[in-house]
Amino acid sequence: MTEAIADLEPRVRRIVTRWDHDPTGLVQILREVQEEFGYLPPPAAVEIARLLRIPYSRVTGVASFYSFMALQPRGAYRVLFSDNITDRMAGNERLLEALCHRLWVEPGKVSEDGLVSVGRTSCTGLCDQGPALLVNGIALPALTDERVQNIGELILARVPVADWPAEFFVVHDNVRRADVMLAHGLKPGDPIRAALQRGTQGWSERAANERSWREAYVGAAQGPIATLEEVKRSNLRGRGGAGFTTGIKWEACRHATGLERYVVCNADEGEPGTFKDRVLLTSHADLLFDGMTVAAYAIGASRGFLYLRGEYRYLLEQVESVLERRREANLLGAGICGQPGFDFDIRVHVGAGSYVCGEESALIESLEGKRGVPRNRPPYPVTNGYKQQPTIVNNVETLCAAALIAVHGGDWYRGLGTLKSSGTKILSVAGDVARPGLYEYPFGVTIRQVLDDCGAVNTQAVQVSGPSGMCIDATEFGRRIAFEDLPTAGAFTVFDASRDMFEVARNYAHFFAHESCGFCTPCRVGTSMLVAAMDKIHAGNGTQHELREMNRLNRVLLMSAHCGLGHTACNPILDTLKRFRPAYERKLRSLEFTPSFDVDGALGRARQMTGRDDAGAHLEEQK
Ligand code: SF4
Repeated sequence: MTEAIADLEPRVRRIVTRWDHDPTGLVQILREVQEEFGYLPPPAAVEIARLLRIPYSRVTGVASFYSFMALQPRGAYRVLFSDNITDRMAGNERLLEALCHRLWVEPGKVSEDGLVSVGRTSCTGLCDQGPALLVNGIALPALTDERVQNIGELILARVPVADWPAEFFVVHDNVRRADVMLAHGLKPGDPIRAALQRGTQGWSERAANERSWREAYVGAAQGPIATLEEVKRSNLRGRGGAGFTTGIKWEACRHATGLERYVVCNADEGEPGTFKDRVLLTSHADLLFDGMTVAAYAIGASRGFLYLRGEYRYLLEQVESVLERRREANLLGAGICGQPGFDFDIRVHVGAGSYVCGEESALIESLEGKRGVPRNRPPYPVTNGYKQQPTIVNNVETLCAAALIAVHGGDWYRGLGTLKSSGTKILSVAGDVARPGLYEYPFGVTIRQVLDDCGAVNTQAVQVSGPSGMCIDATEFGRRIAFEDLPTAGAFTVFDASRDMFEVARNYAHFFAHESCGFCTPCRVGTSMLVAAMDKIHAGNGTQHELREMNRLNRVLLMSAHCGLGHTACNPILDTLKRFRPAYERKLRSLEFTPSFDVDGALGRARQMTGRDDAGAHLEEQK
């Protein structure tokens, strides 16, 4: 310990120097320092503050925001069980207890000898092969009783994680249905060359037709605009869930005033139940980087960022090696593909366990080395994004689609899917199905078709697009995956008739309360009140009052929460309450219960003293 403290300053300085003493790299610096020491020792935080010339309080304030960062020792082995509903269904609680028992440690605490801590974390993006855990940040899927016992032995024997059996860490892609994206067959750089060629075609066609070479030259300079027009013609819409038209976003950014433009890829897929980005990053990283480079060409950006979620930290080295290979192949860097002036490079930022950083403005705050709190909007990132400069933030799948459009054209892409939803959609299918994994379909596929393909039987509900999306029952399985019917960011979680839909909603309520960033009171307090109400019902002490309260909380959150997390936090409860009300009522103490104590009446004296007796001074349910 003394030796580590003695080495602390040079080790911290080396990391800070690698990030050019730039405070916008603070989240990455903290992450790397934590990887160096196992946690963030206070002297390291002091040294970071000194080297970056920022207040110590900013360093600790940022560190305390992210759930994967720790200002206290956490044990040499840090085990975090994925706690999505699908992990629960696969028995993660039993396995966690078994490991804690084997290691003599309480969940959420560090063992007395400082060897190990065992805890829970939100969905790790391994729902198709759960239960899963992270050990020192590395994903370990497909847990069984036997494997958990083996993990316990390895920890007790203090075997370094790097020496654990390699098969423990094998993560499968599980691609079950591939369409134009997952079976694209393109070589690295094809989309960039196609985009550049489009500009050249414009030049030669114009040279033949325009009245002067000057007009033709100006036409050739429209290469990026030709690419932009293709993306607009394709009617590609963002795959992150909101469905904003990508071409319009790119165009607004291209025309915005700024010193520099940025392309940001949002690979922070934190929605429970989704894991498609994991596969795209693992097996199609070139397609993604091609898409980012095409975007940079279209909007005139020279720098890009890949924001990789902390749960996918284990992919970092692989992604970095792809970037390095692309630099060597002149697919990144200066004069890409021999085009003078086409300079673009990509840097990877790794998140640190914050769902709300999936919101684009919060993600930009995190990229700038701050707490990932969503910004007030407008202004939007296309005009005031990273460092207040024009920035596009696109989802992994969106940028991969842009790469396909660069090659095949907007009309080709628009010919796939439905009128308002062009192209294909990758679904992350998990839960009660025989064949979990990725299924890519043209938009317009019915829920029933997906259920048939993945081998789901006796299905009572599907959670489309995760907890912030929509829960539907069997009467709605004829509905279609499309922006005009059921939009989705990709999660498709299936529940058969044996599942208690109240418990599903309770798991999601805990998720939102855990992930609320705490910035605004309605969400910070409201999500905790939702959890309290659901836990009370679970314990058998709930009444109709709790059900009414949750409806009231929904109205408060919709009206006053600062971002989408707060707005959607009640969705899973309201959806299941509407469709599976008996699952709630079975747990209520009494359907007719009314409290014997009149709280509103008891506040009468306070109203008298303050001279207020309007509706807002009463606790009665608002109509
Ligand atoms: Fe943070 Fe929730 Fe407010 Fe969003 S709504 S800013 S997550 S507290």
